[in-house]
Amino acid sequence: MKQYPSYDLHCHSLASDGVLAPDALVHRAYEAGVRVLALTDHDSLDGLAAAREAAGALDGFRLIDGIELTCLWERRVVHLLGLGVDPEAPGWAEYLANLRRLREERAERIAHKLVKAGLPDLLEVARRNAGDGQIGRPHFAQALVDMGRVSTAQQAFDCWLGRGKVGDVKALWPTLEEAVAQVKRARGFAVIAHPTKYNLTFSRLRTLVKDMLAAGGDGIEVSYPGVTPNHLRDLQLLAEREALWASAGSDFHSPEQRWTALGRFPAFKSTRHLLDVLIPNYTV
Ligand code: AMP
Ligand code: MN
Ligand code: MN
Ligand code: MN
Repeated sequence: MKQYPSYDLHCHSLASDGVLAPDALVHRAYEAGVRVLALTDHDSLDGLAAAREAAGALDGFRLIDGIELTCLWERRVVHLLGLGVDPEAPGWAEYLANLRRLREERAERIAHKLVKAGLPDLLEVARRNAGDGQIGRPHFAQALVDMGRVSTAQQAFDCWLGRGKVGDVKALWPTLEEAVAQVKRARGFAVIAHPTKYNLTFSRLRTLVKDMLAAGGDGIEVSYPGVTPNHLRDLQLLAEREALWASAGSDFHSPEQRWTALGRFPAFKSTRHLLDVLIPNYTV
């Protein structure tokens, strides 16, 4: 089995809900020994230029242009990674402007619903937390922590923002097919992020994978923090059976989340590793 450098194909910066600037993220990854890093902000390519500039000054470091697209599959929110995408490809401007509009509208509705549930209006603080980045529920979670309503962001999700809670506000995200199409237009690999985090049975997950393949997609993440050894094995089997490319990443957002670190996820070996096609000529 081929040896790979330390790599991480999923992480977030200030361009979405991560807390580090793209250059700081790249430096932190390099210091952690990571040599191939994909920056995959939610619905944004804005961090890539600064990440690329920082990466250029580091010896033997490869930056992969990536994105994590929010999309809908059968009325369920699914995250699709685009890895190795061309940020200059046609279609991004319109596609991402639509997502920005959807996120801004949803933020207003989240704030409104939380007010109706008895919380103060958090919109301005959440907007400030998001800065120029794509606004999302983590920015509301941070607002709740800052005002002392909860002690951790996790608690904010458990009580207010997580699945089925008042702040879990729906939006008319693009479909899985549309997300895959945009990634392919940009000549990237379309990969379903953290497949076991959608509350799907394995049989439904197989249907999701088949639909993604039918749309022209490429792979699934098989290893990420929180994946169990059994799920990791099942996902690898699924990848082999369906001829999917297998990807992995930390989904790093913040140094304060002690359970994630750049380049860290359960080890695995695969005959269908995405790195083989993402950077075919890479030598350690
Ligand atoms: P959004 O894109 O606004 O729907 O927010 C989704 C983001 O919130 C994810 O990418 C995670 O970073 C975070 N998140 C979602 N669910 C949870 C949860 N249950 N606990 C902690 N963070 C979560
Ligand atoms: Mn996130
Ligand atoms: Mn995700
Ligand atoms: Mn992510």
